[in-house]
Amino acid sequence: MTMFYENLKGCRASKNRDEVLTVMEKASSPLTIDEIYLKIKKKNNSVSLSTIYRIIDKLSSLNIVRIAATLDDNKARYELVKGQHHHYMICNKCKKMIPIDICPVEELEKKIADSEGFTITGHKFELYGECKNCAQKEKEHTNDF
Ligand SMILES: [Zn+2]
Ligand SMILES: [Zn+2]
Repeated sequence: MTMFYENLKGCRASKNRDEVLTVMEKASSPLTIDEIYLKIKKKNNSVSLSTIYRIIDKLSSLNIVRIAATLDDNKARYELVKGQHHHYMICNKCKKMIPIDICPVEELEKKIADSEGFTITGHKFELYGECKNCAQKEKEHTNDF
């Protein structure tokens, strides 16, 4: 466990919780609870979906994970709070979330906030559209005609 999980101090050791954290560390984009569950189930058949819900709930309350986005399928995608915040390009078709390396909002938010005397505590920025793979599939499909 890294220093980051200091928030877990005083919590009971839990193999399932450690697995959830490992799965999330390895993920290249935020995961739904279902996706986390399936990844862990592959290694450990005895885990239940409700256990994963409980772990994510607990980790959220400890500010170790957070909801990165809730897409139009109404499923929350979770990511680790650790490190820099991320923004994503989200494919409307396959729901893939592609991280954006920069934060386009930071500069802008200072300017906007200053003029209103508003104290900003956070922001959201998401781009929606169609990913490369889905665009490609569509093209192939169109060529059938
Ligand atoms: Zn896609
Ligand atoms: Zn940002």
